[in-house]
Amino acid sequence: MFAAYFRRVGDVSGKRRRVGYPRFKPYQRFDQVLFVAGDGARWEPVGGGRWGYATFQAVGQVKANQHRPVLGRVKTLQLKREGRRWYVIIVTETEPVPLPPTGRSVGVDLGVARFLTTSDGEIVANPRFLDATRERIADLQRRKARARPGSGNCRRLRRALAKEWRKVRYQRRDFHHKTARALVESNDAIALEDLHVDSLTASARGTVEVPGRNVAAKAGLNRSILDAGWGQFTSILVAKAESAGRRVVLVHPASTSIDCHLCGASCTRPRQDIVVCPIHGDLDADLNGARNIATRAGLGSGQASAA
Ligand SMILES: [Zn+2]
Repeated sequence: MFAAYFRRVGDVSGKRRRVGYPRFKPYQRFDQVLFVAGDGARWEPVGGGRWGYATFQAVGQVKANQHRPVLGRVKTLQLKREGRRWYVIIVTETEPVPLPPTGRSVGVDLGVARFLTTSDGEIVANPRFLDATRERIADLQRRKARARPGSGNCRRLRRALAKEWRKVRYQRRDFHHKTARALVESNDAIALEDLHVDSLTASARGTVEVPGRNVAAKAGLNRSILDAGWGQFTSILVAKAESAGRRVVLVHPASTSIDCHLCGASCTRPRQDIVVCPIHGDLDADLNGARNIATRAGLGSGQASAA
């Protein structure tokens, strides 16, 4: 543990350099530990599924409230800290329960102005909770920037900020679960852009336009609230689809928003919300994107498939 320290102290190369002391590692530095179930960790539900005991080797027994029922075989248990709260995260394995076929498939465009648009023309707006939270976070950030570092006030503001972000995360995750469930229930196949391809950053750029003061700061905040969401939404959707026997197709995102879904011609985009095809004229940008995604995934234009 002290090896690095003594290496630095013993360095006599002539150069003056600051020697760091070994860092004291307070409990705050350890914020998550993963255990494989059975191997030093187990979960015992008590009280009719409202709470239970998680037992970890070398840590001991932890009583935990249950936020969702623990279904299936427990694979891993994770002890995690967020701010001053501790969580037990339980990953389980369940057998997929296939949903009845619907004969429908859909392409989905994830956006900033709207959360998503489907190739059927269905729109899921961004949840309203974002607006209220964005204002509160912006306000707290301003106050924290003015607070004296290390002061009690600064610490309180930091905690208040962490709390707001935690709230956003919970609300967003809940919204993602509901939205994903609705898509999975009504479609046999769902196509989305593959978020791991990095042209996403290019397509996300310039899509946030908030009028008023502090445009840049607000846009940045909007983006960090929303962006964090797409990857999570996709993985929630993939997991739900898998356990319902549905198919998710991830397509390459290149130019899905700018090519006309009817003729493939390259469109112009005079405004954020429309693209203009030289032949077909004005098209809703997100709907056009969703239809291109459906086509690229081999799902037609997302209408009910004539089998
Ligand atoms: Zn066209």
